Amino acid sequence: MTVRLVGDAVFTVDTTDTVLAPGAVEFEAGTITWIGDPRRVEPAAGTEVRDLGGVLMPGLVNCHAHSPMTLVRSAGDGLPLDRWLSESVWPREAKLTEDDVYWGMALGAAEMLSYGVTTTCEQYRHPAPVTEALLDTGMRALYTVAIFDFADAGPDAGWEAMLAGACELFDTADGKEGRLGVGFGPHAAYTVPPEALRAVAAEAQRRGALLQIHLSESAAECRVVLERYGMSAPALLASQGVLDGRVLAAHAVWLDERDRDLLVQHDVAVAHCPGSNGKLGSGIAPLADLLRRGVRVGLGTDGPASNDDLHLWDEMRLAALLARATAGDPDVLSSRTALRLATRGGAEAMGLPVGVLEVGRPADVVRLRTDDPRFTPSLDDAELLGHLVWAAAGDLVTDVWVAGTPVVESGHCTTVDTERARAEVVQRARRLLDS
Ligand SMILES: [Zn+2]
Repeated sequence: MTVRLVGDAVFTVDTTDTVLAPGAVEFEAGTITWIGDPRRVEPAAGTEVRDLGGVLMPGLVNCHAHSPMTLVRSAGDGLPLDRWLSESVWPREAKLTEDDVYWGMALGAAEMLSYGVTTTCEQYRHPAPVTEALLDTGMRALYTVAIFDFADAGPDAGWEAMLAGACELFDTADGKEGRLGVGFGPHAAYTVPPEALRAVAAEAQRRGALLQIHLSESAAECRVVLERYGMSAPALLASQGVLDGRVLAAHAVWLDERDRDLLVQHDVAVAHCPGSNGKLGSGIAPLADLLRRGVRVGLGTDGPASNDDLHLWDEMRLAALLARATAGDPDVLSSRTALRLATRGGAEAMGLPVGVLEVGRPADVVRLRTDDPRFTPSLDDAELLGHLVWAAAGDLVTDVWVAGTPVVESGHCTTVDTERARAEVVQRARRLLDS
């Protein structure tokens, strides 16, 4: 059946950033079939018409997240990256069961969907429960299986075993239900040895899969890589052949000129995580310069222990605020670009056809109500865009569709029992902290 959604305005985020006011989006079997002015074109007989008002826009795209970390939300506040990981996060994560991870991912998905994030690029261990939760919750996801080298913790914790698990998951689950992609997530150049990076990259490239890696996040980490290998992390990855395939680099804060040239040469995409980088005191990534060089950039929340939410609305605003503040120039990053980073930019960084409302694209659509002081007044399209970027937030999202399937209705996530997920996460988080 064809569904027509009618809004006071539709932000398409297409190549010319078309705004229709009023506007309508039609979809059938999960794919957008028509977009236009509902006053000019009558719906075909049998079309379900939903006159919603408000703003319709593409679902937001979270380019870098470890969503099961809802179980350790807020852990280690005030610690720098290295101590935050080793003293606060990893000791609790070492006790995780498969059920813990399932509920942590389910709660994270409920949070994202409720606030209009329809796609997430995950990096985490425990492939079975992460995959199960992503499929159950109706999210669109590209799950890059995390690969570390914890060989001291047993044979299953070495990088070879983790890589074998990632390959098996790709070969059995990639493309499932049309909305789950599988990729490879070697953690970082300072946590995974070069031979492992080479092997992971080879497997990813053989499959045409995305490789997601943390890159040059903190100054301390960059010093470790330089001392150990005599070169920067981007140079090390390039020397090992890691940058030759589809690569998404999370953070990319500490980059010199040669590092930036390497990203451009290898068409490496960047997941910009200004909230996480700010909270951990890691620094401010050179967003405006990366965009000027033509690097594909999306936005990421990172895990909810370093953010501490998964909304992405904060990231959109922070990205623009920090770029303008550091450049001393309000024109260095436009509101249009900010909205694009949170939607289409993220999708292009991941290599997915979402983040745009266009005929033939998946019907991942978000509706926001605008009967709120933050949207008052809206005298033209430019003001409406300004309110979306600078004033709105995910609490105004009322309805969400992923591939045309409703997943949030009247502000409530319909695919996750959110109260149960919250209760599960509370008691499991307590056990991780206490035991
Ligand atoms: Zn991360």
